[in-house]
Amino acid sequence: MYLNKGKDESLRRFHPWVFSGAVNHVDGKPAEGDLVRVLTHDGEFIAVGHWQIGSIAVRVLSFDDEPIDQDFWATRLSTAYQLRKAIGVAENPDNSTYRLVHGEGDNLPGLVIDIYGQTAVMQAHSVGMHVSRMSIAQALKQVMGERLQSIYYKSETTLPFKAELGQENGFLLGSSSDNVAMENGLKFHIDWLKGQKTGFFVDQRDNRSLVEKYAKGRNVLNMFCYTGGFSVYAMRGGAQLVHSVDSSQKAVDLVNANVELNFPGDLRHKAFADDAFKYLEQMETAYDLVILDPPAFAKHRDAVRHAIKGYTKLNARAMEKMPKGSILFTFSCSQAISKEQFRMAVFTAATLAHRKVSILHQLHQPADHPINIYHPEGEYLKGLVLYVE
Ligand code: SAH
Repeated sequence: MYLNKGKDESLRRFHPWVFSGAVNHVDGKPAEGDLVRVLTHDGEFIAVGHWQIGSIAVRVLSFDDEPIDQDFWATRLSTAYQLRKAIGVAENPDNSTYRLVHGEGDNLPGLVIDIYGQTAVMQAHSVGMHVSRMSIAQALKQVMGERLQSIYYKSETTLPFKAELGQENGFLLGSSSDNVAMENGLKFHIDWLKGQKTGFFVDQRDNRSLVEKYAKGRNVLNMFCYTGGFSVYAMRGGAQLVHSVDSSQKAVDLVNANVELNFPGDLRHKAFADDAFKYLEQMETAYDLVILDPPAFAKHRDAVRHAIKGYTKLNARAMEKMPKGSILFTFSCSQAISKEQFRMAVFTAATLAHRKVSILHQLHQPADHPINIYHPEGEYLKGLVLYVE
């Protein structure tokens, strides 16, 4: 694939995407997911990657002219594994839940792998990664050895819809149903077969630990609780009571099961299936530690303005009712919303709620969701911890 003149600049800075507007012409007729070598206008090799249909034409796998084979995958996966060992989330007796591969952050654009005990849940976001899935699975087994017994491939909803692959979820290795994994010494049921994403939101691990630190003696509301990660940490932190809310009854069942798994018979916890706005409007408990971790309000750039309004309204509703001296953990996982936009939305919420508010912490995704320094788009999770006077 030959680039238009001057369109090699971002690739020389190791940005891992080639946009379709940069493509001059292609020798042959690659199918979506095929490997293509990217050349400058003058024919100099610059990168090799997966061909795609859409605004991103190539997702770069390597800036070296090397074969993309099982050895290549094994090397990349091994590097990713070493990083997880270095940051203390892998081979840690208290923790068997972590993200092993975070797409561009691990120089594997289009691939996500989460580890739950001896099971890996693998998700392809590009046709190229889908085509390579067996090779990647074999390389993964090679790198992890006996530590890995099952690989569940879960890409039904993440592959480009237009590619019409008709892919179904299923095991590429083993068939584990042992679905309890450990995060920082706490146990969680993880439903990789039916759960959202790969089954668990691994990205809130560090932020949950911070909630634990602040929970002592507080009345905690965990809004958008899903599996109840924040709730279980708050209970370990000595919260007086913990209420978990999610619009999905399945989530409510999950949080109850996870609380029972860690604190059997503990009456401090209750879960409610309800809409967030309705609950915030009608609630009577004075919660002095509130967590708001909603689903991505903006999945695309076009939805940004609408999403900002959503964040503002949600945060204002919560702040209005919080007693003096409360703490609010508020998050956005929308990649399309910048840190500044999110902060501005929360700032507007504080004004609307007429509250004095200070920022205690600025939170982000954890180290097992690394950001490729050449690909700042990889930063998606942002959070603020606020003191509400
Ligand atoms: N905090 C969770 C992840 C939240 S995912 C964790 O740490 O794992 C977002 C959750 O919001 C989903 O479980 C979804 O069911 C729930 N949700 C979506 N819309 C909602 C609404 N309007 N009111 C309440 N919950 C909602």
